[in-house]
Amino acid sequence: MSDAARLNQLDQKFVWHPFTQQLGWSEEEPLMIERGEGVHLFDVEGNRYIDGTSSLWCNVHGHHHPDLDRAAREQLDKFAHSTMLGLSHPGATELAARLIEIAPAGLRRVFYSDSGSTAAEIALKMAFQYHQQRGDTARTRFVRLREAYHGDTLGSVSVGGIDLFHATYRPLLFDTLAAEPGDAEHMERLLSAHEGEIAAVIMEPLVQGAGGMIVHPEGYLRAVRELCDRHGVLLICDEVATGFGRTGTMFAVEREAVAPDFLCLAKGITGGYLPLAATLTTEAVYDGFLGAPAEAKTFFHGHTYTGNAVACAVALANLEVFERERTIERLQPKIALLDRRLAEIAELPGVTEVRSRGVMVGIDLGAHDPELRLGHRVTLEARRRGALIRPLGDVVVLMPPLAISEEKLETLLDVTADSIAAALAAVDGPKTRL
Ligand SMILES: *Cc1c(COP(=O)(O)O)cnc(C)c1O
Repeated sequence: MSDAARLNQLDQKFVWHPFTQQLGWSEEEPLMIERGEGVHLFDVEGNRYIDGTSSLWCNVHGHHHPDLDRAAREQLDKFAHSTMLGLSHPGATELAARLIEIAPAGLRRVFYSDSGSTAAEIALKMAFQYHQQRGDTARTRFVRLREAYHGDTLGSVSVGGIDLFHATYRPLLFDTLAAEPGDAEHMERLLSAHEGEIAAVIMEPLVQGAGGMIVHPEGYLRAVRELCDRHGVLLICDEVATGFGRTGTMFAVEREAVAPDFLCLAKGITGGYLPLAATLTTEAVYDGFLGAPAEAKTFFHGHTYTGNAVACAVALANLEVFERERTIERLQPKIALLDRRLAEIAELPGVTEVRSRGVMVGIDLGAHDPELRLGHRVTLEARRRGALIRPLGDVVVLMPPLAISEEKLETLLDVTADSIAAALAAVDGPKTRL
């Protein structure tokens, strides 16, 4: 038996994959990734693929980047992990200072965790506790956007709005108020109707990723910030997906000169290398937690691997590479190219809408019978043509590493267009179930 076949057998037998219907999984040949180089991933059989979704939206400078590799190795020569509970270490300290330097003004404190979900959970708990401790005890509710996604733990699911992922857990979740994405007047009505009851508004600024790349109209984020100020409500901006250059600026909030009360960061923070997250907040929120131990104003939250030293070292190297390689500056012509090509793709048969901001792209194929699994078919066609993409339902998502060359970007777009055509042709023919 070949090694690939043996590994596939073990995977089928022992592994339960995330966001995956294992019944379908076991009917297909899984793709086993062995190594990466730049924007490419290679499977155990040596086939090469463009990483079209940045290994689920987190890779920035490409795989196997010498500087990021070196940062991890050098830290391993010192130590891999020690706790942040009662101790500190140089990497976490330097990284916090760097994050504050590049974050919007007003954000002054960094609280580490390990995933986007925990970054969001932490912001929710901090916002709630902040109001409680300043005596504003009626502020117990949260406003979230329809189709919002903030992670998979129960707190972050509570502020989620994607029924397919979230509805099952409703009985376990806390109640939230749902605002219409992009509609500032609706937000105003909600905040007015619940005056004094709301702790915070949580939102993905500019683009709601997992909701299907929903792009907000210009000025919406700015308007929400102003409404929050007027109503004494904190604003949590979840930049787990949009952060680290995805929308064309380091953070999406920069686009509308908004400083949130909380900024949630994860995915791109280590360039897609290691699990690390950060919740940034203001000095005002931070001060609200100060007091004698007996006052119990402490933020009682902290994960074992919080502020992991190897992850922090790689995150620092990630930010250095942003500077040295002028990643954001060099991204601009790629965004222009992408926008040009997407305008063409929007005209293709079967494409109902293309939504994008920077290098976050959703190509919507419209409402099809879910049994046809059109988005999934596009993925399989793309794989045959040398690109890895992953859809959200029938929305084809493109999110290549920021470091992708214009040439490779063209290839990815060609493959995507061809794969959409091939998948549509297959479902137009005999409608077989997949
Ligand atoms: C991916 C994502 C999360 C969850 O991050 P994990 O690291 O997968 O827990 C949270 N918020 C947004 C906006 C995301 O895109």
